[in-house]
Amino acid sequence: MNYCSHCGSDQLAHRIPDGDNLPRFVCSQCGRIHYQNPKMVVGCLIYNEAGAVMLARRSIEPRYGYWNLPCGFLELGETVEQGALREVQEETGATVALGPLHTVYNLPHAQQVYLIFLAQMRGQYAQETPESLEVAFFKEADIPWEEVAFSSNVFALRHFFQSRRSPELNLPAVGGLLPSQKTS
Ligand SMILES: [Zn+2]
Repeated sequence: MNYCSHCGSDQLAHRIPDGDNLPRFVCSQCGRIHYQNPKMVVGCLIYNEAGAVMLARRSIEPRYGYWNLPCGFLELGETVEQGALREVQEETGATVALGPLHTVYNLPHAQQVYLIFLAQMRGQYAQETPESLEVAFFKEADIPWEEVAFSSNVFALRHFFQSRRSPELNLPAVGGLLPSQKTS
């Protein structure tokens, strides 16, 4: 952070404010304390009647050309459910029925937390959008594991197929990387 977003000053100190226990950017001009917190990434694991899961091939960086679950950053003013459905629309054009929370995935080094919901396909097909090169359904044996864009998506996909085999696992799974593990 180079400038105070409140007063525009470049006099920012990185220090522990009184009564706090972590260093923050503090404006020496106006006194504003700038708290920085992780961002939420929301999305859906969409499956069809045959138990196949929808993946979209990314037309944007990072990981251009890799497959991912439709997901993206939560916007201001949205609930996580609204954000997850919006991302599905933007990336796949699909109409889905939103189900329960499926996975939570921590990426502390990237300052992100993923929330992936289950969703069921409604209607027959999805379509490519400006954010996707291709949209397709994959059964477990056909998932292109080496070309899945993010570890959060791999985690959600593995949990989905495991919990279909063992319904007692059918609860939200929490996972993630430790701060020292740098793969996204
Ligand atoms: Zn300021």
